[in-house]
Amino acid sequence: MPRRIIEPFKIKTVEPIRMTSRAEREAILEAAGYNLFLVHAEDVLIDLLTDSGTSAMSAEQWAGMMRGDESYACSRSWYRFRDTVRSIFGFEQVIPTHQGRAAERILFSVLCEPGDVVPNNTHFDTTRANIEFRGAEARDLPIPEALVPSQLHPFKGNLDVERLAALIDEVGAERIPLVMITVTNNSGGGQPVSLANIRAVKQLIAPLGIPLYLDACRFAENAWFIKQREPGYADTSVRAIAAEMFALADGCTMSAKKDGLANIGGFLCTNDPNLARQEQDLLILTEGFPTYGGLAGRDLEAIAIGLEEVLDEDYLAYRAASTRYLGERLTESGVPIIQPPGGHAIYIDAKAMLPQIAPLELPGQALCAELYLEAGIRGVEIGTLMFGHDDPETGEPLPAAMELVRLAIPRRVYTKSHIDYVAEACAEVYARREAIRGLRLTYAAPFLRHFTARLAPI
Ligand SMILES: *Cc1c(COP(=O)(O)O)cnc(C)c1O
Repeated sequence: MPRRIIEPFKIKTVEPIRMTSRAEREAILEAAGYNLFLVHAEDVLIDLLTDSGTSAMSAEQWAGMMRGDESYACSRSWYRFRDTVRSIFGFEQVIPTHQGRAAERILFSVLCEPGDVVPNNTHFDTTRANIEFRGAEARDLPIPEALVPSQLHPFKGNLDVERLAALIDEVGAERIPLVMITVTNNSGGGQPVSLANIRAVKQLIAPLGIPLYLDACRFAENAWFIKQREPGYADTSVRAIAAEMFALADGCTMSAKKDGLANIGGFLCTNDPNLARQEQDLLILTEGFPTYGGLAGRDLEAIAIGLEEVLDEDYLAYRAASTRYLGERLTESGVPIIQPPGGHAIYIDAKAMLPQIAPLELPGQALCAELYLEAGIRGVEIGTLMFGHDDPETGEPLPAAMELVRLAIPRRVYTKSHIDYVAEACAEVYARREAIRGLRLTYAAPFLRHFTARLAPI
C-alpha cells in the first residue's frame, strides 16, 4: 500500500489561533454586516480567504531575509533574484515589481491600444481591470467543459483554440497585441492547462506575429498537474516541465505571492530587449529602479529561495494531495464542488447546494456566513455579490453566471487536522442546508462592492 502523503516540513514557529464561541461569532458577523472581508483576522479560526501572500516562509527564506542586500542599485539580492528567475523561467529580461498587478499594468501600458482585444483562458480580475483601464477588451475563452462545475476534465483550464482562431478571424491579428494563458486558471477553479494546449495556441499565433504570455502565478502547481496527467511527462521533472511551458511563451507576468512562496512581490519577463527598455522606463516612474522594482532586497531574497522551494516535488505532492483531500471529503459528504479539485482551492457550488436561495439573494455569501458561524472559517464568495451588476439598459439587477464559495488553501500553513476540521464544518452546514436563508444588501459601493458591502439576513 502506498504510504500516506505527509506535510514535508516540521513546524519551527507557531502563531496561536484565537478560539471563539458561536455566540461571539454571531455578534462579530453582525457587526461586520455579514461581510467576511470586514471581520478582523484575529476573529477567524481557519482563514481560507486567499492563498495570496499567505504562505508560511521556510527557515531558509527567513535566513535570506537577514542576508538581504538593501543597496539601492545592483544589490547582491537582485542578482540572486534575477539569476533564479532566468534559470527557472528561461527569459532573458526580468523586471521586478511589488505585486503581479504592477507587472500587468506595465505590460498592458506598453502593448495595448484602445480597441485592442486580449484573449485569455480566463482573466484574473486585476488582469481584466488593467486591460480595460487601457481601453482594450479582455476576452475569456475557456473550453466549454470549464463552465460545467460537475464535469471532469484533466485540463479544465485549457484555452479554447477554435474560439481563439474564430476571434482572430473576427477582429484581425493586428488588434490582438498578445494572447495570455493563466496557469493554473485561478478564476476558472484553479484548473491546469496542458502543454499540448499551450503548444497549440503558440502554433496558431506565432505565424501571425502575436506574442504569447503566461500569467504564471501558479506555474509550479500547473507543472505538477502536467506531470501527473499529461501522457509522456510522468518521468519528467517539474522543473523541466516548467521550462518547457515557458519556452513556448514570449514572456510572463508573475505574482510571487502565490508560487513564489513569499508574502509580497512579483515580476514581468520578456526576451525582447526593446520592450524591456520601455517597461523599465515605466517601472522607474512608479515602482523603482530596475534592480529592485517595488521590493526590498530582503523580499528579492525570499522570492529567489521560494521559487526554488516551490519546485520541490515532495512539496507539490503534499500541496496537491491536501487540496484534493478536502475536495474528496466534501464530495463524500454530498457537498457539490467544482470537479476535479484544482491546485490551490476548492470551490463549493452554492447554487446547487442552496437551490432555495435565489441568485439575487446571494446563496454564496449566505454560505460564507454559515461557515463562519459554524466554525470560524473564512471563505470568499465568487458569485453575485462579487460579479452581479445592474442591466445597463433597464437598471434591473443581474446575477453572476455561477454562485461559488472559494476555500483557498494557504501554502504550508494548515495541517491535516485543520483541513479535517474544515471538512467536518462543511458537512454540518450541508446537513442543515434547507434551513439556510438568503441575504440582502444594505450598502453597496458602485464598483468592487464585495469588499465593503454590508448585508442582513432576509
Ligand atoms: C493574484 C493573481 C494576479 C495578481 O497578482 P497580485 O500579486 O495580487 O497583484 C494575477 N493573476 C492571477 C491568476 C492571480 O492569481
